[in-house]
Amino acid sequence: MARETQTQLRARAKKVFERLSKAYPDAECSLEHGDPLELLVATILSAQCTDERVNKTTPALFKRFKTAKDFATAPQKELEKYIQSCGFYKNKATNIIGACKKIVDEHGGKVPGTLEELVELSGVGRKTANVLLGTVFGVPGVVVDTHCGRLARRLGFTKHEDPTKVEHDLMKVWPQEIWSLYSHLFVYHGRAVCFARGPKCSACPVRELCPFPDSREGNKIAK
Ligand code: SF4
Repeated sequence: MARETQTQLRARAKKVFERLSKAYPDAECSLEHGDPLELLVATILSAQCTDERVNKTTPALFKRFKTAKDFATAPQKELEKYIQSCGFYKNKATNIIGACKKIVDEHGGKVPGTLEELVELSGVGRKTANVLLGTVFGVPGVVVDTHCGRLARRLGFTKHEDPTKVEHDLMKVWPQEIWSLYSHLFVYHGRAVCFARGPKCSACPVRELCPFPDSREGNKIAK
C-alpha cells in the first residue's frame, strides 16, 4: 500500500469504524459494574486477566466491599482472598486499597473524573483512566489494551508498540467523539476475528481496508 496522507488515513479509519460498528453493534465495556468505583476496581483487576474472569470475581467482592471507605480500610489478606483468581492479587489488593485511600482522603469518597486525577491513583495508568472516562464520565478516551494495540498496528494506524504512543497516534486518526466506542470495537474484533495468532482474515469485515490481509507480514506484526 502506498504511503497514505493523514487525510487518507483518517478517511480509511472512518470506513473501518463503520464496518466494525455494523459487525459489533453491541460493543461496549465488558467489565460488569454498577458505578464508577466498581468499574475502577474491576479495571484494576483486569490487568493480565480476562474480563470474563473479573466478572466472575466481582459480584462477591462488591457484596462485601461497597464504598471507597470499605476498600480503603479492607484487611489486605481478606481482600486478597476475594481477588486471588485474577492473578497478581497481592499487588492488585495493594493498589485497590491505596487508590481508595486517596479517593477517601482527597476526593470525598468519589472517584474523580479527570485523566490527571485518575492517573494519580495507585494502579491506575492511562488505559484504566480512559476506560473510566469513556464508560462512566462521558469523556471520550482511547483505550489501548493488547487487542487495540495489535489492531492499530495491523491496520496501519501506528507503527508503535508503546501503548502511550499508540494512543496518541490513534487520537490523530480517530474522530474524538468515537474514541471510546472505537476502542471497544477493536477489542471485540481482536477477540472474534483478528487474533494475535492466525487472524481469520477470510472472514474479516475490514479485509479490503487492511494493509496486511493474509500476509505473513500481517501475522508477524506485533502480537
Ligand atoms: S484482514 Fe486480517 S489482519 Fe487485517 S484486520 Fe482483518 S483479521 Fe486483522
